[in-house]
Amino acid sequence: MMLDEVLKANKEFVKDFKATKMSHIPQKKLAIVTCMDTRLTCFLEPALGIGRGDAKIIKNAGNSAADRDVIRSVAVAIHALGVEEVMVIGHYDCGMANVDPEKLEANMKARGVDEEVLSGVDLKEWIGAIDGEEENVREVVDKLNESPFIPDDVPIHGLIIDLYDGKLKVLVEG
Ligand code: ZN
Repeated sequence: MMLDEVLKANKEFVKDFKATKMSHIPQKKLAIVTCMDTRLTCFLEPALGIGRGDAKIIKNAGNSAADRDVIRSVAVAIHALGVEEVMVIGHYDCGMANVDPEKLEANMKARGVDEEVLSGVDLKEWIGAIDGEEENVREVVDKLNESPFIPDDVPIHGLIIDLYDGKLKVLVEG
């Protein structure tokens, strides 16, 4: 199991770790909503020039704001943690733009998800599948801007990153 491997790695990590006191307040007053894509790990932060302690990073499948929890986290970051700027950062080649709802439904059924439950939802919508990565970033920016919990004076930017050359493109300048 991965758990054993992780616990072993942690033992090594703790051995060399030098504790430093850090604030939970993001030093760059920045919150980022991005995708859970594994290829963004240890990639997005250096690509943006941010380090540990600099920003609040909220991740989910497809950097979606369909989930109320994203708005909640961004609102907390602004109202309780001093965030003054928000970036929604998508990426090309996103798995959520390539979801096959039929295959997904078959997989879910095979793993014992109740057929009655499945027939009651629009699976493509429920899973948060997206039609295009750039379009999705723009929609999420709109959703955050429309939220009554997000103050109008907080700029919400929309960006997209290329996983292969690391280039960022600004889609919406908030
Ligand atoms: Zn993605």
